[in-house]
Amino acid sequence: LDYDEGLLVELERVYGRHALGPALEALTRPPRRYYLRVNTLRVEPGALLDEMRAAGYEVYRDELFPEALWIPVRGPARLRGGGCRVVVDKRAAESVMLGANVYAPGVISVDRGCRAGGWASVYSENGVLVGEGVIAEGFQEALRARRGMVVRVEEPLYRVPSLRETVWWRNGLIYEQSISSMTVARVLGARPGSVVVDMCAAPGGKTGHVYELSGGGARVVALDHSARKVERLREEMARLGHRVEVLRMDARRAPELLGRGVADYVILDPPCTSLGVIPKVYDRKRLRDVIVSARYQGQLLRAGLQLLKPGGRLVYSTCTMTVRENEENLGYAVELGARPLEPWPRRWSRGLGGYGWAALRVHPHVHGATGYFIALMEAPR
Ligand code: SAM
Repeated sequence: LDYDEGLLVELERVYGRHALGPALEALTRPPRRYYLRVNTLRVEPGALLDEMRAAGYEVYRDELFPEALWIPVRGPARLRGGGCRVVVDKRAAESVMLGANVYAPGVISVDRGCRAGGWASVYSENGVLVGEGVIAEGFQEALRARRGMVVRVEEPLYRVPSLRETVWWRNGLIYEQSISSMTVARVLGARPGSVVVDMCAAPGGKTGHVYELSGGGARVVALDHSARKVERLREEMARLGHRVEVLRMDARRAPELLGRGVADYVILDPPCTSLGVIPKVYDRKRLRDVIVSARYQGQLLRAGLQLLKPGGRLVYSTCTMTVRENEENLGYAVELGARPLEPWPRRWSRGLGGYGWAALRVHPHVHGATGYFIALMEAPR
């Protein structure tokens, strides 16, 4: 991991000198459990669990959230690395590592010696062997056209089932979502009949979850500023059968465009430095990235609080571990008049410092799950 001194010092504020090593090391491993959320508006989780087990999946129920099912992540496998060499970019490497095939857009180079049907070893740019498999028929055309399969991966470093190809996924019964992310809508606990604004919503993990938890009875308005992501979000909501309003908007302008004091609940899951997203084959970040990110999150937070009715609740979450993007932003919200609330359920660890009790932290090296920060607050009455 290529993190500058400033960022390492920032992370030391969280982990101290002793735990920093294990905390960073854990970022190269996937979560211990691969989670999916059951769309409870379409199927009862126990019924789906039985169906999946009958189909041969080793699947379990989460201890706390009835809608959450998980499958153990297997690995790391002992890969030999004798195949012809295929090098892929960071994004592709992180997918291949978990069992995805190699597609042309992610390929950086393919050895001259590679032949269709031959055995390939797939490496990340920094030389990590992430999987092995068979070179696909027509791989040369795929490379020329920049689309199509190049390697059918048979032995990934870690193994998770690809649920996208199942009838459950196609019929909108499941959504792949980390348990850390699922905690956000759980903490918010939006009631049926309420208005929920999800400010940074795409691809819609938390949007769909909050809608399901309200029994389909909340009016959910989902915002995102990217046209492409808004499209994807609409498709996801259609797949799940959710009636959610999706609007393309810079959420910093939402109070001006939707009106102030319109929401009973707000979800703010802004872009962040994503240090908690695992596994990483490598990552390059600077303290500067953290500072820029925290400032942007602050702007969104200010807008989020303006959207709330008096006494309305906002849940703020990030998939990163820095204090500046997390506790310091919670502190900023308090300066703006928000009242911190104790999140429930008290799963995971608590936050740091004075308002730490108003936040949950998921630590990858402790909990074996995506690193997260979740804080709950209320608008003045
Ligand atoms: N909440 C989502 C989920 O659980 O599936 C993930 C959200 S992701 C961390 C952040 C999202 O914020 C991205 O989709 C990005 O396009 C969007 N975004 C960034 N700046 C924004 C802005 N000013 N207004 C609205 N959306 C924004």
